[in-house]
Amino acid sequence: MHQQQIVHRGGSLAFRLSFADRKTLAISVLPDGTVAVSAPQGTPLSKIEQRIVARLPWIDRQKAYFAQFMPRSPARQYVGGETHLYLGRQYRLRLEQGEDRNVRLYAGRLVVSVPEPDRPDQVREALEAWYAERARIRLPERVALVQDQVRHLGLSHSDLTIRTLRRRWGSMSPSGRLTLNRNLIKAPISSIDYVIIHELCHLAHADHGPAFYRMLQRLLPDWEARKARLERLLA
Ligand SMILES: [Zn+2]
Repeated sequence: MHQQQIVHRGGSLAFRLSFADRKTLAISVLPDGTVAVSAPQGTPLSKIEQRIVARLPWIDRQKAYFAQFMPRSPARQYVGGETHLYLGRQYRLRLEQGEDRNVRLYAGRLVVSVPEPDRPDQVREALEAWYAERARIRLPERVALVQDQVRHLGLSHSDLTIRTLRRRWGSMSPSGRLTLNRNLIKAPISSIDYVIIHELCHLAHADHGPAFYRMLQRLLPDWEARKARLERLLA
């Protein structure tokens, strides 16, 4: 099974390719949105891509159909008892009245104290500030640890920026500037490390071609499970 990526008009599409003893090429969309292609042995990649591009409208329809069943995180209300994620674990909110804005993890709870705990905007602001601070502390720690493991391969980034990104978990510029999505602080450490390794692999391979996935697979054989967990938790 190989992870492949095709770039076509208007975007790119990742798909999993396997070869089998069969006469025709089969394209399927799995409930998690993965596109799986099973091709007869020896089919050239160009021909496979051609077939996929021809089926793109159908693939998009299938993906949209399955997407409606994907679990979505409900919109947060910022009221007591509600659960919020931190490093992949759910914590219940306990709201307290306090002069100063303060958030702490205590006895398995996320304890938020604000001047007016019945005001969701105050709770939200306090939590956002806390997440931002935790991200500023924990994400660079993970980057340093992961970086140490791959430095011997010549994968060294130049600097790190943490900010809220709309549609991606991270990015790597050609000059080695790593950017991580601040919201990763809600994900399990195993998934945070996956995103960091994924981005560091881009220092060797800018695109998502076969060489990129070979390197990722070698460094992190269970990367797909880590990615799936990230997407499931933070959908
Ligand atoms: Zn990438």
